[in-house]
Amino acid sequence: MFRLIAACFALVVVPFSLPASAEGFLSRLLNKPVPGGVAVLPVGDGAEAPRAFFQDKPVMVIREDGNRWIAIVGVPLTAKGSQQVQVQDATGTHQVGFEIGAKRYPEQHIRLKNDRMVNPLPEDNVRIEREMAAQARAYRTFTPGAPSNLMLDKPVNGPLSSAFGLRRFFNGEERAPHSGLDFAVPAGTPVKAPAAGRVILTGNLFFNGNTVFIDHGQGLISMVCHLSRIDVKEGDEVARGAVVGAVGSTGRATGPHMHWNVSLNDVRVDPAIFIGAFKR
Ligand code: ZN
Repeated sequence: MFRLIAACFALVVVPFSLPASAEGFLSRLLNKPVPGGVAVLPVGDGAEAPRAFFQDKPVMVIREDGNRWIAIVGVPLTAKGSQQVQVQDATGTHQVGFEIGAKRYPEQHIRLKNDRMVNPLPEDNVRIEREMAAQARAYRTFTPGAPSNLMLDKPVNGPLSSAFGLRRFFNGEERAPHSGLDFAVPAGTPVKAPAAGRVILTGNLFFNGNTVFIDHGQGLISMVCHLSRIDVKEGDEVARGAVVGAVGSTGRATGPHMHWNVSLNDVRVDPAIFIGAFKR
């Protein structure tokens, strides 16, 4: 019993031994280094922003608390163990390592009346491949400007329905895990831009239905889909909070809801992190 109390006491004491300046506000909110999460890493304090790369893709680097630079890295659902970020600055190239913690994602079983949405017809596959390529290009967008806000606004006000990362089975067949966050809101609810940005892709896609991609800057991309209506077009600059469409149930959806993906360095991550709703 005494040993147990001593162990608990040790756990409480340890954090106070860290330097008080170890973490800033954004790091504390965003650093969730788990599969499908975000790793926040200090990458120097020089005058110029260093460049950072993870798995050969450019990574967001911003200044925190007016002094040090931090890299904000999207962690793939499939990643585990020790990882390295390559950092280039005036002194050369070096590596910054981080460890990925464990996170378990539950299963979700969904019944769809339209089996074509589970096993598309051969003629659907041409369309699906073309749309996958266009979306892959959109997710790889990396523009230099930093996002207007890194803690994002929810695209709609409403309760969360399906969490990010659920291992999905449609009519008993396993498909890709849930790449975003669902909100239970009625059809027609206006969908707002979570931060300022540029509309880089719109369209009516086979699985996602009416879809809007917004580039917020430095590889941070929002995608909202299953919309009943799209109110913007490619190339539009949208303000934070601007209406980009309305909630619907187009594409592979069982009913009206809002689906929101957040992507960082071409990795789909848990949007809950960016609205302060992340659960371990
Ligand atoms: Zn969804």
